[in-house]
Amino acid sequence: MAFEDLLEDPVIQKYLHELVGPKGMPVAAAPPDGEVTDEELAEELGLELNDVRRALFILYENDLATYRRLRDEDSGWLTYLWTFEYDKIPEQLEEEMHRLLEGLEDRRQYERNNEFYLCEHCGIRFEFGEAMEFGFQCPECGNQVEAMENTRLVTAMEDRIDELRDELNVDSVEA
Ligand SMILES: [Zn+2]
Repeated sequence: MAFEDLLEDPVIQKYLHELVGPKGMPVAAAPPDGEVTDEELAEELGLELNDVRRALFILYENDLATYRRLRDEDSGWLTYLWTFEYDKIPEQLEEEMHRLLEGLEDRRQYERNNEFYLCEHCGIRFEFGEAMEFGFQCPECGNQVEAMENTRLVTAMEDRIDELRDELNVDSVEA
């Protein structure tokens, strides 16, 4: 996929935005074709050098950019030449969605397998075992804790799980 097509994808835009934040977005959203220095990017995009460097480093940490260093023979100054490597984005996004899906499935299992009690005063939720241990009284304020429905939470999780399975083409096996 070409850079331009990638960057028009709202999912990918959101992914980049979450990585680099609003200040880094001009850097992440305008990857040049070849090598570029941080100074060149800052000047081209009218950004603070620090913001450019921060964005580049985040991209580097996420395997979306690499650099090589050049030392100036005379001054000894180091120049960093950056290359954007966005061809890995679709693959990384898919991995991330798989992780999210697994996390959600674990969480749904936990929600289904447990009963919960709520202290409405403190907004703290307890598992059944904990609530029993405390004699169904909130250890913070002493109020009675009440049994709490989590059906809506589980349903919302299931909807999201279905969406993710659809997007990832994972077979929908009802757990
Ligand atoms: Zn309480």
